[in-house]
Amino acid sequence: MKISIQPSTAAVPALEREKRVAEPGFGKYFTDHMVVAEWNHGSGWADALVRAYGAIELDPAAMVFHYGQEIFEGMKAYSQPDGSIALFRPDANGLRFAKSAARIALPELPVSDFVSCVEALVKVDREWVPKKIGESLYIRPFMIATEVGLGVRPSNKALFSIIATPAAAYFNAAKAVTVWISTEYVRAALGGTGEAKCGGNYAASLLAQQQAAKEGCDQVVWLDAIERRWVEEMGGMNLYFVKGRGKDATIFTPKLTGTLLPGITRDSILSVATDLGYKVEEGMINIEQWRDGVASGDISEIFACGTAAVIAPVGCAKSAQGTWVTGDGNPGPITMEIRNHLLGIQHGTIEDKHGWMKKVVS
Ligand SMILES: *Cc1c(COP(=O)(O)O)cnc(C)c1O
Repeated sequence: MKISIQPSTAAVPALEREKRVAEPGFGKYFTDHMVVAEWNHGSGWADALVRAYGAIELDPAAMVFHYGQEIFEGMKAYSQPDGSIALFRPDANGLRFAKSAARIALPELPVSDFVSCVEALVKVDREWVPKKIGESLYIRPFMIATEVGLGVRPSNKALFSIIATPAAAYFNAAKAVTVWISTEYVRAALGGTGEAKCGGNYAASLLAQQQAAKEGCDQVVWLDAIERRWVEEMGGMNLYFVKGRGKDATIFTPKLTGTLLPGITRDSILSVATDLGYKVEEGMINIEQWRDGVASGDISEIFACGTAAVIAPVGCAKSAQGTWVTGDGNPGPITMEIRNHLLGIQHGTIEDKHGWMKKVVS
C-alpha cells in the first residue's frame, strides 16, 4: 500500500496546539491529520492518504449506518527520554484488527500496511504527542462498511481511517473505580462477537453502563452469558485479581474463553508480572469467589487494564447479591508496581526486553 501525504492547509496554530497538548483531556482535541484508504471487492485496497482532519461524507444508505459493520483499535504513541516517539506493540493491534475484520466480514488489511499508516500519521502529527509521564497520543484506527444499499450482506466497499488525539494521564490514584456487576445484561456469548473489537459490542453495553451509573458505579463488570457467575471483563477493560500479598502473590486474570476481548495490556501484564517475580495464572473466577476472597483477604487487590487508562484500581463492587470492597479503596502496592513498570517501558525509562516499543520518529 502506497501512502501519500497531503499536508493540511488549516493546521491548528502552534500556540493553540501547545495549549491543547498541555491540557489534553481525552478525545477532546484531534490532531491536524487523518489517514483514509478505500477498499473495494474487485480491486482491493487503494493507496492510503494522509490528509487534513475533517468530515467523512457518506451516502445515507451506506451499510455501516444500518447494520453496524464497523471495527476499531485503540493504541498509543509515547514520547521517549531522547525526544523520539515510539509506538507500543503496534503489530499486536494490527493483528487484532485483522482478526476483528475477519469476524465482522470486513476486508483484512495486512498488518504491515496497518502499522505503516499509523506511523505515517504519527510522523506528520508528531508535535501533538504530549511529553509528560502517563501522557500519550491515543490513536484510533477504524474501518466502516461504505457500500450503498440496504441488502443485508457483507459490504463490497470499506473505508479504513485513523484519527489521533492527545491523551492525559487517566489514572486517578486517589480514587479506585466502583463497579456494578451486571446479572441482567451480557456483553458476549460464545459464537458471538466478544473477541472482536467492534462498535456493536459497545452499543450493546451502553444500557448496562447507564444502569451502573444509576447504581452509583463507574463501570459495569460483565459475567458469562450462560451461568451469569463467571467474571469476564470490566467495561472496555480486562480484569486482574491479586491473590495473596508480597512477592508470593499470584496475579490472576480470567482466561480467554472466546467471549473476552484479548487485551494487549492484559497480555503485556502477564509478562511484566512474571518479570517482576510474581506467579501469574489465567483461569475462571466467579462472583462468589470474588466476594469470599475479598472478605477473607485472600484477594488483596483488583485492577482493570486497557490501552486508554493502562491500569485502573477497582475498589467497591456492587451487585444484586450485595456490596463488597477490596482493600481500603486505594490502589494496592502490586497494582502500582505493575503500572509503574509498564509505564516505564512505554516511556523508555525501563528496559524494553520484550521488544515491544517501535520507534517512529527519532
Ligand atoms: C479494547 C478492549 C480491551 C482492552 O484491550 P487493550 O488492547 O488492552 O487496549 C478490553 N476489553 C474490551 C471489551 C475492549 O474493547
